[in-house]
Amino acid sequence: MQIKTRIALQFSSIVAAILVVFSLVIYFISSTYRQEEFYERLRSKALTTVRYLIDVKEISEELLRIIDKNSLTALLNEKVLIFDEQNRLIYSSVDDEVVAYPKGIINTAREQREIETVYGDLEVVAFLYEEDNRSVVVLAMAHDKFGKSKLGNLRNTLIWGLLVGLSVTIGLGIFFAGQSLRPISRINEQISTITARNLRNRLDEGNRKDEIAHLAINFNRVLQRLDQAFEQQRSFVSHASHELRTPLAALKSEIQIGLRQRHSADEYQAILENLMSDTDRLISLTNNLLFLARTLENISQMPLAAVRVEDVLFLAKEELVTAKPGYQIDIDYENLPDAETETMVRGNEELLKRVLLNLLDNACKYSADNRAKVRIRTDERLCTVTVKDNGIGISEKDQENIFQPFYRAANAVGYDGFGVGLSICQKIIELHQGVISVTSRLHHGSSFIIQIPHL
Ligand code: ADP
Repeated sequence: MQIKTRIALQFSSIVAAILVVFSLVIYFISSTYRQEEFYERLRSKALTTVRYLIDVKEISEELLRIIDKNSLTALLNEKVLIFDEQNRLIYSSVDDEVVAYPKGIINTAREQREIETVYGDLEVVAFLYEEDNRSVVVLAMAHDKFGKSKLGNLRNTLIWGLLVGLSVTIGLGIFFAGQSLRPISRINEQISTITARNLRNRLDEGNRKDEIAHLAINFNRVLQRLDQAFEQQRSFVSHASHELRTPLAALKSEIQIGLRQRHSADEYQAILENLMSDTDRLISLTNNLLFLARTLENISQMPLAAVRVEDVLFLAKEELVTAKPGYQIDIDYENLPDAETETMVRGNEELLKRVLLNLLDNACKYSADNRAKVRIRTDERLCTVTVKDNGIGISEKDQENIFQPFYRAANAVGYDGFGVGLSICQKIIELHQGVISVTSRLHHGSSFIIQIPHL
């Protein structure tokens, strides 16, 4: 069932229930009032008759009957009967017919002093009247034609009102539910046109205020993130193929040179060494690509433990200096940690070492003196490591992009590298709930700053 129909049905059922209850209450209250009012009229009529009969000696039965019949307030089918102590009928307002009345009502009236009941379509009141040592039972009955007809009219009005009210409610319910859900249908239509090829399309955000507009706004945000992810994926694939093509082309041309003519053993040796270095480059690039593509997917499942940052720093320094002996790295504390835990972070030693290796390597690689200065600083929340160099520096525009995979600044072209190291570093630092940032001035040097919450 469509939401529109469901809302209209629920809304109509609630209104219908309220209308029905309301109408029933009105009907029963009116019916009770009518009955009470009619019994009251009967009682006062009966009282007048019995007073005339017993208290006013001048009025005979015959005269009383004439008065009863001609009184202006006479009710339809009205009869008044009066019974003496032996339950003998001593007065009847109609003398030409035998009046039927509910059995046993005279005795009950004597016991209860007063009784109200219904007999066929007649309403009956019987009560005990005591005066001058006489105790008679007066019984009055009549048909409330006007009262019942008014009640019938009220019932018909309520039934018609209910039917019309319900139809209007159902109609309005369907109309308004349709109106309020129309923006959802519109969004639905727009969503169904979005595919991987047109992720740039955006949904109409309407008045940007109501819930449906918020749904559209949030969906547009998701689209934007998806678009960015797709774009990154596309640029990753194109950069990766480009980076792979260059060393492969170099390999091919060296092989062609080797095959073109006969060479001396030394020349072959040189060609093979070139091939070896290009293959190493290729292996290193594919390793980085594999790390980016596969390891980072499972990065959040990597085992984490308490790691001391300076220990990892010294390990990275040793590894780098062993591989590249010309590099010089100074490590220093900017402030001595207050507590042992201030340089301890919850993390993965291998991954953190990879980050520091990359930063130290870049600092030495991109500076003429091949030197990097490392500072460790701690405060009550963060452990900060700054890797500083006096190298070629990074322009402001490039600083915004160097964390993108494969991005290399123009001034880095003459240096070895693929442009993936910093993007890997950023993802690893994010895993450690930290941030990595850079400050730099072209030709003056750069500082890469890592901040990670300590234990
Ligand atoms: P790679 O160094 O292999 O090119 P990275 O991802 O480590 O890749 O760095 C991306 C780019 O950031 C580099 O190509 C370079 O332009 C710039 N860069 C990184 N570190 C430095 C640095 N210390 N000095 C100058 N430029 C740097």
